[in-house]
Amino acid sequence: MTELDTNYPDPISDNRLIDNHNRPITYLRLAITDRCNLRCRYCRPEEGVPFISHDEILTFEELEHLVTIFCALGINKVRVTGGEPFSRRGCMPFLTRLQKIDGVQHLHITTNGVKTSRFLDELAVIGLDSINVSLDTLDYKRFWKITRRDYLEAVLQTVHGVLARDIPLKINSVVLKDTTDDEIIQLAKLARDFPIAVRFIEKMPFSGTVRSGKLENGNLSQRLKRLFPAIEKETYVLPTTARIFSMPGYKGKLGIIQGYSRLFCSTCNKVRITPTGMMKTCLYDNGVLNLKSMLRKGAGDQEIESAIINCVQNRCISGHEAELNAKRGKEPSMASIGG
Ligand code: SAM
Repeated sequence: MTELDTNYPDPISDNRLIDNHNRPITYLRLAITDRCNLRCRYCRPEEGVPFISHDEILTFEELEHLVTIFCALGINKVRVTGGEPFSRRGCMPFLTRLQKIDGVQHLHITTNGVKTSRFLDELAVIGLDSINVSLDTLDYKRFWKITRRDYLEAVLQTVHGVLARDIPLKINSVVLKDTTDDEIIQLAKLARDFPIAVRFIEKMPFSGTVRSGKLENGNLSQRLKRLFPAIEKETYVLPTTARIFSMPGYKGKLGIIQGYSRLFCSTCNKVRITPTGMMKTCLYDNGVLNLKSMLRKGAGDQEIESAIINCVQNRCISGHEAELNAKRGKEPSMASIGG
């Protein structure tokens, strides 16, 4: 088994994406679709959200063009997400092409694992740096209740397939108000038995429904300390969104991502592109630049570069500020942003 990769790339010296708060931007997240084969209740309302029409979504060619521009500016890490990336036909060949773009030094995906196992051989061949699998419970009934689908078996097949191929693996687990201590303990056992970073995530206001406006799952670090009294050292390799803990005798690590509390904004190195081609300089903003419109109106690379730099130089200091400025009554669905 491989060692866990909890290191994040260092900013490169000729990075032209340094924001107005002196944070280098080296990480681009691409949400390549809004479609998903799960209906997680914290991500979409039961009745669903209207799908975005195909011509509103960036083509793979447009995405590759944008990645080339971002890499020329200093991005070296790219994560492909969604919706569910493998719900979009052509995702695997797209990943293969992305890996070859000059400047893409680290390529990662975030997936729900439902359809992923059939692509694992190819993912191993292209040398994907890591896979994040989202998995909120190991209990079949709860899986159904949370995702409104019955695919836990397929997700577990992906988890074991990733381990068998030595691809570094993280599991992202959203902690909901009814997540039990036992569910957390069962998930943590994956880190005990395998070299997996199991990261527990605060639920964020991206459910596609009316705003609840409060943190529903309490203090995650206190909860982990109560459940795992022997929890040890905390390793911070900046920049990172996760706080990572080790446990004696565990092959993997435990972690928490405090995306609601937003404790990591001061080192945030990410920008995002949504399926419709909006650039976001914060998960909590409404989108700051319409890249699709620029591309489709024939803007040249230099014009697009300047517009990106301008947005990065006007970045909110924190997710709290970005959310305040966004003035939303309703929570957007995370499927339209990519997490
Ligand atoms: N379909 C892929 C998956 O499930 O990993 C990628 C897209 S999904 C939107 C990315 C991540 O966002 C998942 O780990 C998911 O659990 C997380 N997520 C979605 N809605 C969330 C919310 N309201 N709060 C916290 N995390 C959320």
